[in-house]
Amino acid sequence: MGPPGAGKGTQGELLARHLEVPRFSTGEMLREARAQGSELGRRAQSYMDAGELVPDEVVLGLIAEALDDTPPTGGFILDGFPRTVAQAQGLDAILDEREAPLDGVVWLNVPEEELVRRLTGRDGSENRTDDEPETVRRRIQVYRDETEPVVRWYARKGLRVIEADGMGSIEEIQSGLRRELAR
Ligand code: ADP
Repeated sequence: MGPPGAGKGTQGELLARHLEVPRFSTGEMLREARAQGSELGRRAQSYMDAGELVPDEVVLGLIAEALDDTPPTGGFILDGFPRTVAQAQGLDAILDEREAPLDGVVWLNVPEEELVRRLTGRDGSENRTDDEPETVRRRIQVYRDETEPVVRWYARKGLRVIEADGMGSIEEIQSGLRRELAR
């Protein structure tokens, strides 16, 4: 978990490769659905472009489907999900059924000025329709209002929360994460 621009996708991808587990990113799934022009993609579009969250039941459906196609014992990384307490509760129900509890939360943190700089400065390789400065500010606000409480919710439930500094080189951050996870 972490604010938009913290590097969740980059770090999650490297970690998934290292641990040899699948990574499920709701943001990527939604962008794929949009690119395919599916019903779900069309439904998600206006929310994403406004920097708002897509309705909980949409992303919960995507995650449930992805987990259905995954062996129950192998582990997985969730990236950019859950983003609301309601999503976290829905996820709990899904995981209870599978008897596959979460091991922990990785919380990546980066100062706000740096987030805005990174997101509005992304080069053409990751051209996204939600990288306009005003939308970026809205995404960060939504993160503070809706998603940060999820980290506290998990911490209160006694789940291990690994807080990581998202400043530094990609490699430094990754090796820090692996060290923490191995403890
Ligand atoms: P970032 O974390 O940089 O904003 P993501 O790819 O994770 O990038 O998300 C992009 C957009 O996709 C979000 O602003 C939101 O509209 C939508 N989205 C992704 N994941 C979720 C989720 N779990 N719940 C609701 N909306 C989501």
